[in-house]
Amino acid sequence: MSMEAMLANPGSTERTRVRRIPELAVTDRSTLHQVLDAGLLGHLALADETGQPYALPVAYARDGESLVMHGSAASRLFRLCAAGTPVCFTVTLLDGLVLARSAFESSMNYRSVMVLGHCTVLHGKSKELGLRLITEHLMPERWDEIRKPSAQELRATAVLELPLDECSVKINADGPDDDAEDVALPVWAGRVPLVRQCGDPVPATDLKPEYARIPDYIHRWKA
Ligand SMILES: Cc1cc2nc3c(=O)[nH]c(=O)nc-3n(C[C@H](O)[C@H](O)[C@H](O)COP(=O)(O)OP(=O)(O)OC[C@H]3O[C@@H](n4cnc5c(N)ncnc54)[C@H](O)[C@@H]3O)c2cc1C
Repeated sequence: MSMEAMLANPGSTERTRVRRIPELAVTDRSTLHQVLDAGLLGHLALADETGQPYALPVAYARDGESLVMHGSAASRLFRLCAAGTPVCFTVTLLDGLVLARSAFESSMNYRSVMVLGHCTVLHGKSKELGLRLITEHLMPERWDEIRKPSAQELRATAVLELPLDECSVKINADGPDDDAEDVALPVWAGRVPLVRQCGDPVPATDLKPEYARIPDYIHRWKA
């Protein structure tokens, strides 16, 4: 049996079953992977010893059926994660605004993922691979060109792994769903897509003139 076949589908546990507008739930793992691979930023949420919840914006990458993320080894919240505090990790891709004829029905198009679980700390080669994956996810094809982390930088960095065991996916790609009596209102209705876009690269002020040529891989990020 394949690894994928052994894993629970998104939304299949009591905690992750989408109850509010369940028709927006997506239950296949390939969509889970696609949304995670398309996102660049996640939010890692956990409560500290006092019960106060915090949500940390973090970079991440998917490594098969896990996520990896990195942070300062001195970070209080990363240390709590490393100690096994339960976490909730979300990724949200905002795809558009949904303009209904009423304020109540106005909404957004999105693809979002929620993962529940516990992080573990990566060490040695897995830690270095995790760092590489995060860099390559954010900045494809750059890792081979840049200086790799030194021993001191590695000591200062914690890399966490979060298994994609218990998760949910919710996607809203629809237009407005106005009440029948509102359809006759003299108001434009529809969707306004929002797209993420790379702007033109801005060279560092201390860039040496001999290295001013923008690498081809950066041009490919625009595609
Ligand atoms: C960009 C964006 C904007 C949103 N804006 C609003 C808003 O303004 N007001 C509002 O009420 N809701 C908004 N939502 C929807 C919101 O995320 C929740 O889905 C909704 O509020 C229902 O919450 P609940 O706890 O009642 O869900 P329930 O259906 O009871 O949650 C049960 C389980 O479903 C899963 N789940 C719920 N929501 C999501 C999700 N978004 N992504 C992945 N898994 C999910 C989780 O595993 C959760 O434990 C927005 C979502 C996105 C992505």
